[in-house]
This record gives sequence, C-alpha cells and structure tokens, in this order.
Amino acid sequence: MNRSLYSKLVLVIILLIVSLMTVVGAFLMRGIQVFYLNEFYKQMQSVFSNVELVNSLRSAADDDNPELIMTDILRAYSGQLGIDSGSRNYYILSGSAGSFITGSDPEGGASLQITANILSAVTGKEGYSGAVNEDHMDVALPVSGEKGSFIIYIKDNKETIRQLSRELFKIITDSLAVGLTISVLLSLLLAKTMVTPLQSLKKAVERVAAGDFSDKPDIHSADEIGVLSNSFNNMADRLERILDDLTKSETMRREFVANVSHELRTPLTNIRSYAETLETSPMPRETESKFLSVIVSESDRMTKIVQDLLTLSRFDAGSDELICEEFSFEKSVRDVFSAMQLEARRRNQEFTLEFKGSVPEITGDKARIEQVLMNMVSNAMKYTPEGGSIRINVKKTGGAVQAQVRDNGVGIPKEDIDKVFDRFYRVDKARSRESGGTGLGLSIAKEIVGRHNGKIDIQSRLGHGTTITVTLPVSGPGHYHEEQRNGS
Ligand code: ADP
Repeated sequence: MNRSLYSKLVLVIILLIVSLMTVVGAFLMRGIQVFYLNEFYKQMQSVFSNVELVNSLRSAADDDNPELIMTDILRAYSGQLGIDSGSRNYYILSGSAGSFITGSDPEGGASLQITANILSAVTGKEGYSGAVNEDHMDVALPVSGEKGSFIIYIKDNKETIRQLSRELFKIITDSLAVGLTISVLLSLLLAKTMVTPLQSLKKAVERVAAGDFSDKPDIHSADEIGVLSNSFNNMADRLERILDDLTKSETMRREFVANVSHELRTPLTNIRSYAETLETSPMPRETESKFLSVIVSESDRMTKIVQDLLTLSRFDAGSDELICEEFSFEKSVRDVFSAMQLEARRRNQEFTLEFKGSVPEITGDKARIEQVLMNMVSNAMKYTPEGGSIRINVKKTGGAVQAQVRDNGVGIPKEDIDKVFDRFYRVDKARSRESGGTGLGLSIAKEIVGRHNGKIDIQSRLGHGTTITVTLPVSGPGHYHEEQRNGS
C-alpha cells in the first residue's frame, strides 16, 4: 500500500508539473514569436510611412546611379530599420523580376528566394504580409522612377528570435527540472502525511481482525482520514462490546446447562438409590415409608425445577403473555400475608404487615405479581432464623406502588448481592436446597417485574438482614417509564 500510494502521488504530481510547463512553454514561445512578428511589421510600417524617405527613394530611382544613392539612403535609415549584419538585411532588387542588384548581404542576396511580398512588389503593390510559422519575415516596397523601377526589400531570417526561443526553452527546461525536484520532495512529504496515519489504521484493522482491541489508532485530524479513523474506532468499540456480550452469554449458557444438569441429577440420584434399596433389601414398614416419602419429595423438587425452567424459557422466548387486569394490590399483599402466616408461626418468626396511606388498584398480571410477593416473603422466612422478624411495608410512590419485605435474617455478603438475580445463583447452596429452594425464584421475580416495567431492588448486610423492594407502575406495563420521564 505504502509504495503504491507514494508512487501514485509522485507520478500524478510529475505529470501535472510536466503538462503545466509544456502548456505554459508552448504559449510563451508562440506569444514571443507573434510579438516579434508584429513588432517587425510595425517598425517597417513606421519607417516606410516616412514621406521624406519614400520621396528620396523615388527621386533616387530617377538618378543616374540609383543603386548607390538608394544604398546610401537605406544605410542612413539602417538604425531605424533594425538592420544589423546578422539576421536582418536590406536588398535592392530589380522592379521587373525581383532579381538581386545590391544590398547589405551580397552573399544572401545572390540566393534570394522570390517571396509572396516580392511578387506583390513586382506587380507594383507593397508586400507586407507575414506569418508566424514562416522561417523569415520580409517587406517589399516598389520604388519606380522614370529611368527604372526597383524593389526595396527588407528581410529578417528570424535568427534573433530563434536564439531567443532557444534561450527560453533552456530556461523552461531548467525551471522544469527545479520544479520537478521540489514537487517530488513535496509530494513525498504529502504522501508521508497521508500514508503514516493510513498505516497505523491498517495495523489497527489487522489487530482487530485478529481479535485484539487493546490499541486503537490515535489520529486527531479533521480530514477524511481522521473521520475514517474515528468511525473505525467506534466500529471497533461496538464490535468489542458485541463480542464481550456474545462471550458472556455463551459462558452463561454453558453455566446454565451445567447448572440444570447438576440440579436435576441430584434428586434423580437420590430417587434411584432409594428405589434400588427398596427393591433389593427387605426392610421394616416404617423405613420403607420414610424412603418412599424421600422419593416423593425429591420428585416434587424435580417438578418444581422443571416448572421454574419452563417459566423462564417461556419468558426468554417471549411466548409467555401477561394476563393483565385491574386488581387491588392491597388485597394481593394481604392474601400473601395470610397465606404465609402459618409458616411464620411454625418458624416462630414475628410477621407484620403495614400500609402507609391508601394503595390504589394497579393494572398487571395478578397471579404473577402474587408469585413475586410470595417469593420475597418465603425467601425472607427461609433465610431468617427462628425468632427473627419479617415486616412487609406497602405504600404508593408517584405513579407506582411499592412493597418492601424486610427481615433481620442471615443477610447476603456484599460480593453476592448483584448475583442473586442470576439463574441458579445461591449464596449457600446447601441451605437453599434444604429449604426447598431452586435458585430460580429471584430470576423469575426479576423477569416478571421487568415485564411490568417495574423495578426490584435488594439491599442487605451480612448477619443483619435483607430488604427486597418491588416497585410496580399503577398504570401497568408500557406506561410507567413515560410517566417517570415526564416527572409524574
Ligand atoms: P432460592 O430458591 O435459593 O431461594 P432465589 O432466586 O429466590 O433462590 O434466591 C437466590 C439466593 O438469594 C438465595 O439462594 C439466597 O442465597 C439469596 N437470598 C434471597 N433472599 C434472601 C433473603 N431474604 N435473605 C438472605 N438471602 C437471600
């Protein structure tokens, strides 16, 4: 990439400079030639419009020695005519045939070509025409006297302009060489400023392709490369997050499958070993019925796990619709309270219920919400020793109702608080299993509350107790967030 971008840029700039210089050079050279041609004819016209000169040439034509006198006259005007020994000369030609008589360049005069201007002078007309691409410039003036007719012919062989053009060409090629050197250096510099960030971007792309997100390109320019690098960084960030999520969910999936297998294997192993013992070894009737009741309670446990898993998988698949209705939240809490009173008494726990103000009716899935409340209360009882206390507080807050279950039980270690909503997570596995827990109750509660657009929070101090608070929108699923946003 590096070399090709460098060479492309250098090539483009070289081509640009060469074509620019060629065009400028060509226009300049032609412009100078046109200027020189125009200047020549202007100069000739200004000299030959001099009446005195024309008259003296005419009267010389009548003289006995016309060529000599004309030569003298032309010599006198040679400064004005720009006659020099090199490129510009005057010639006196015969008026009838245009043949050379005398002039400032006898050698050239002998081989003088008949030009269009000479022909026009032969016919008695002044010849002033000329073109840039001809190899010479000339004027031919007919001068007639009584004794003879002549042509005054001025010819410039363009040697001066040719020399000037050669000089100019050299200047152009020299400046082209200097210009090319400078522009090649500049283009290398330019290519470097473009290529360096592109190279670091390329390396970053390769790193990301290899799964390494640690080092992002740090390009702070406002140009397209800067924008590209920014977009790349954003894309890499998103990709990193997605990959993280995928890895996490894959790990969670594996853990979940392992947990499910483990949770189901334990009761199954128990059932099998008790059944085998029953089948193979004769035993007293009481032991037999004890074994049978273990088998029944272990199958109940399996049924509960399977039911909970089914509920969660229906939530995951989105196939478990809430059956919403308007119902009395107060009555639901009271029902759960009465249902659990016996259990509290059995455990010798103080169990109280308190309403702060009136609590409105709410919209939601009554059975599911009662399931959540039941789970909160039964957890509080399970994880509070005998003689402990469990308190339910209910109130209305804004557009929502809130139920808080507070216990002074074993509490949860700080590092476990965030994990108790995870599936199968239990702080103390043995204790949870003993008390018939599956580790799925709080995950199901969180799903149910979430589907009602509510919130479930847990606060706990190890050895001091736990408070679980559930907040549910009065207006049911789909409205609570908007109302909260609007500040109601
Ligand atoms: P389980 O069926 O084990 O009770 P949950 O999902 O209901 O499962 O609860 C997850 C874990 O959270 C429990 O195993 C327990 O360790 C902890 N937990 C829940 N409620 C309480 C509480 N009130 N006091 C102490 N620990 C609790």
